[in-house]
Amino acid sequence: MFIDGQWLKCDNTFDVLNPATGEVLGQVADGDEHHATQAIEAAHRAFESWSRTTAHHRSSILYRAWQLMLERKGELAALMTAEQGKPLKAAANEVQYAADFLLWFAEEAKRAYGETIPSARPDQRFIVQHQAVGVVAAITPWNYPVSMLTRKLAPALAAGCTVILKPAEATPLCAIAVFKLLEEAGLPAGVVNLVTTSTPAPVGKVFCESPLVRKLTFTGSTAVGKMLSRDAAMQLKRVSMELGGHAPFIVFEDADPVHAAKGASLVKFLNTGQACICPNRIFVHKNVMPDFLQTLTSRIEKMRVGNGVTEGVAIGPLVDEKAVLKIDRQVNDARDKGAEVLCGGQRLTQGEFGDGYFYAPTVLARVDDSMLIYREETFGPIAPVISFDDDDDVIAMANDTHYGLAAYVYTKDLSRAFRAVEQLRFGIIGVNDINPTSAAAPFGGMKESGLGREGAREGLMEYMETKLAGYSV
Ligand code: NAP
Repeated sequence: MFIDGQWLKCDNTFDVLNPATGEVLGQVADGDEHHATQAIEAAHRAFESWSRTTAHHRSSILYRAWQLMLERKGELAALMTAEQGKPLKAAANEVQYAADFLLWFAEEAKRAYGETIPSARPDQRFIVQHQAVGVVAAITPWNYPVSMLTRKLAPALAAGCTVILKPAEATPLCAIAVFKLLEEAGLPAGVVNLVTTSTPAPVGKVFCESPLVRKLTFTGSTAVGKMLSRDAAMQLKRVSMELGGHAPFIVFEDADPVHAAKGASLVKFLNTGQACICPNRIFVHKNVMPDFLQTLTSRIEKMRVGNGVTEGVAIGPLVDEKAVLKIDRQVNDARDKGAEVLCGGQRLTQGEFGDGYFYAPTVLARVDDSMLIYREETFGPIAPVISFDDDDDVIAMANDTHYGLAAYVYTKDLSRAFRAVEQLRFGIIGVNDINPTSAAAPFGGMKESGLGREGAREGLMEYMETKLAGYSV
């Protein structure tokens, strides 16, 4: 753990495993509520001086961190593949995406502009300024173990906040590597603090209950996000919640089904289907269904599954046994209720798959609303395909979920694209595009997919208070 500028060892440790091989990669300090309190106190002490540094100074440190991250791209990617499982190329892409946040917020730090507002009184001036919200507690997931950290740390530091971060139990080594880099970039003691733990609940409770923490930022499941929001509400702490998704992917009648199937095969199987923006319900117009299914299935049958370090592997392992059991349950339920398994459909256990958590990439046709997979977030390499024949019906089906993170639309008709974007209740929509994300663009969900936005200008404002001064002159 990294607290008040010191790397701390701990009597208690927990093992970090490689999900492709079951190999133990290392032991990490198993922190508890006392460490969380210690880290919050250190962040509180550091806040006074850090929040008074100039935006230019904070920017220069973030800029240095960006350079260091790019210099270490290969090293970080290799660590991520071992600890989290995604193929090396995808891991390198994630490191680039993570570095993008450091650069974006190094620049944005200098643009935290306020404003002057005309008053109705001749002797009065209104001036609005933005100031750091205070000590921030951050909790991050395992699926993007580097970029989910910088998406929170970079704007918080740019704003002048100090931070305590708890990474996921499955991926603390990536978090340690990021904190070493931040230390080297020149952050003063106490400005960033890392608490690793195998028992998140007591640490989360301290984050919510400490009066010194003014903001809680969380990325993870909707269930945990709701619980933390409820606890943080007792002190009306500010919260940002990046939660689960259940993305619709709509292929309209006029779309090119081959192009759309290619897009679906790429974005659905991203990170073995373990991304919050992965399509979870693929709606295809009945007239283009045969071509779509044929292209999708033939592309997926060619995807190589295996350890992400092996050249040519496109699909790595799932994170753990629980994840395998969840998707196996969804696939069996769909099969029992009449879905057709066009490829995959089972766990992989033979040979090199024996010690890891592998599942064959799967296409399910004839999925309907009676099936679990139609309602639950999947988080695995399963593409459920549903037929439709009316635009209004498909928009209603797409919106029929309590999630509202990402959605995708394929059409060549501009009016249809506009109508769909306006009617879909999702925070991020790709139109003939499978990667509508960037450090420069606001990322976040509607409904139970969360509160607030990360990245972009909005991402900085999440860590700032708005202060109005009315001057009598
Ligand atoms: P999770 O179980 O909610 O865990 C997320 C983080 O919360 C982990 O660090 C976890 O620690 C911690 N945690 C769990 N229970 C806690 C508690 N009682 N108090 C405090 N912290 C607690 O989610 P996950 O399975 O890691 O991540 C997958 C979910 O994240 C999916 O639903 C996905 O859609 C969502 N996600 C959303 C976004 C987005 O930007 N919207 C991005 C990525 C992922 P442990 O690891 O120790 O359990």
